[in-house]
Amino acid sequence: MNSQPLSPDALKALVRTVPDFPQEGIQFRDITTLIGHGEGLASTVHHLARLAQAKGAQKIAGMEARGFIFGAAVAVQLGMGFVPVRKPGKLPIATIGVDYDLEYGTDRLEIDPAAIASGERVVIVDDLIATGGTALASADLLRQAGAEVSDALFVIDLPDLGGADRLREVSVDVSVLMQFEGE
Ligand code: AMP
Repeated sequence: MNSQPLSPDALKALVRTVPDFPQEGIQFRDITTLIGHGEGLASTVHHLARLAQAKGAQKIAGMEARGFIFGAAVAVQLGMGFVPVRKPGKLPIATIGVDYDLEYGTDRLEIDPAAIASGERVVIVDDLIATGGTALASADLLRQAGAEVSDALFVIDLPDLGGADRLREVSVDVSVLMQFEGE
């Protein structure tokens, strides 16, 4: 970055909250406004990249779709490879996959098992952790492919939904740039 990065507090002010999306009772924390702000995007990636480096990342994994934005940018900043954790049916090769529960609904994630070398230290990056289901499924898949997964980084944590605690229970340490109370 050319100038001082914006602080996590300043970045939090760039996140837009949309009530009752995609269903009633959900406060949707929308990063569109954060990534549309040049300094905001660069500062977010800067903070995440410093964390990933401190955690000894050798490769970054990000979840479709918003994890691709931050994860790929962090990987570029650190000069390392990026593993896309994809929605089903997108990868053109034999995949491994896992079904998991979302805050709203269920879903499935798949990866190319050949994307990871045995013992490679892979750090997970996503925009937000809510229940932790997406990140737990990703850690499980990456470990099945031979990765060492001990850290996950998020722009936003919703601590009331307990996702970070669930990840810590499976020995994945969680770091976040900001928290929002409530769902
Ligand atoms: P979870 O698996 O429950 O931790 O949900 C994480 C994923 O769902 C993240 O990748 C987010 O993109 C999305 N998500 C869940 N809850 C919200 C929310 N309240 N606002 C914005 N995105 C959310």
